[in-house]
Amino acid sequence: MKILTNELGKPSSDQQIADIATNILTEVMQFRRMIDTEKKCDSATCSDCHKPHIEKVIAAIMQEKKIRFVLPAFPGKSPNPAKVLGHLPDMAEKQALTFLNNLCKRIQSIYTPGAEVIICSDGRVFSDVVGIAEKHITSYQIEIDRIIKESNLTSLSTFNLDDVYHDCNFEQARSELIGKYGQDLERLKEKVKRGGDVTGSSTPEEREANRLYCGLTRFLVEDSLFPGQTKSKSAIQKECKSKAYLAIIRSNAWTDLIAEKFPEAIRLSIHPQSCGSRKIGIQLLGIETWMTPWHGVAVNTGNNFILMKHREVKELNAQLIKDEKGRPSHYKLISQNQQLTYEL
Ligand SMILES: [Zn+2]
Repeated sequence: MKILTNELGKPSSDQQIADIATNILTEVMQFRRMIDTEKKCDSATCSDCHKPHIEKVIAAIMQEKKIRFVLPAFPGKSPNPAKVLGHLPDMAEKQALTFLNNLCKRIQSIYTPGAEVIICSDGRVFSDVVGIAEKHITSYQIEIDRIIKESNLTSLSTFNLDDVYHDCNFEQARSELIGKYGQDLERLKEKVKRGGDVTGSSTPEEREANRLYCGLTRFLVEDSLFPGQTKSKSAIQKECKSKAYLAIIRSNAWTDLIAEKFPEAIRLSIHPQSCGSRKIGIQLLGIETWMTPWHGVAVNTGNNFILMKHREVKELNAQLIKDEKGRPSHYKLISQNQQLTYEL
C-alpha cells in the first residue's frame, strides 16, 4: 500500500495521517492475543481495539518519529529443566525476537520512519521471587543483546532494571523500585478476589488482575515441581500463591516505571487482552500459543517453529540441534506424522 504524500514527502492531510495510523495498528493487531473467554472482535481493524493507542501513533507520525512499542518480557529462562534447555536464550528467543523485528519492518513498509520495540526485561525485577539466579539473569540479558546485534535486529533494543539503578546492588535496586512504585499487598489481594467473582460485577481491570494471578501461580507451581524437590504439592501451591502476589507487585511497579520513562510508547504485553485494552497482547512467534520462549523449547516442525515443554519434546522422535557455539539450541522433528499432529 502506498501512502499519498505532498511535495515534501509528508502526509498532506489529517485524514491521511489518521489512515496511516490505522494501517499501522491494523498491522500489529493481526498478531494480537485476545482473551478466549471474552467477546472477540472479528477484525484487526476493530476501532475499539485501536482507540486506546491511535493518538500515540498519530503523535509519532506528526513528528515523523518511529512508532515506539515497549514490551516487558524476556525475563530469563525458567529454572525448571523439564521445561527449557538451559539458562541462556536459544532458538526460542531468537524466533520471537526475529518475529518482533519483522513486525517493525512491516510497519516500515507502510510508514517510512518505521517502528521499534524496546524489550523491557523484567527478570531482575522478580528474579528472587521466581527463583532465577542473578548471574543467570545477567547472562540471559547479555545473550539477548548479542542475538539482537548479531542477527541485525535493528528495530529492537533492550532496557532493564540494571539501566535504571546503577549505583546499588540488585536487592537495593528492587527495593528502590518498590519504594517508589509499589502498591499495597492487601489492596491487590482484594482486587484479585473481586476479579475472580463469577457473578459478573467485577471490572475488566479486576478480571485482568485475577487472570494474571492465576497464570503466574500456575507458572510458579510448574517451575517448583522440578525433579528432586521434596516439598508437598499443597505446600508448593501455598508458597506460589504468596510469590505470585509479590511478582505482580514487582511487575506492576516495573510497568509504572516504564510508562514514566517512555510515555509516548505503546504498551505491548505477552498476556492476552480484552477488546479495547490499554495494552496490546502480542503473539511472540506470530502464532497463537500460551507458552513463552523462556518457558519452553523451540521445535522445528519442518514448516515452522513451535514451542513445547522440554520433557514433552523428549518423548517425541526429535533431534537436538546445537548452535555454532555447541550449545543446545532447539529440536527438529524427524517423523512427518508427528509434524502433522503437533502443528494442530
Ligand atoms: Zn476489538
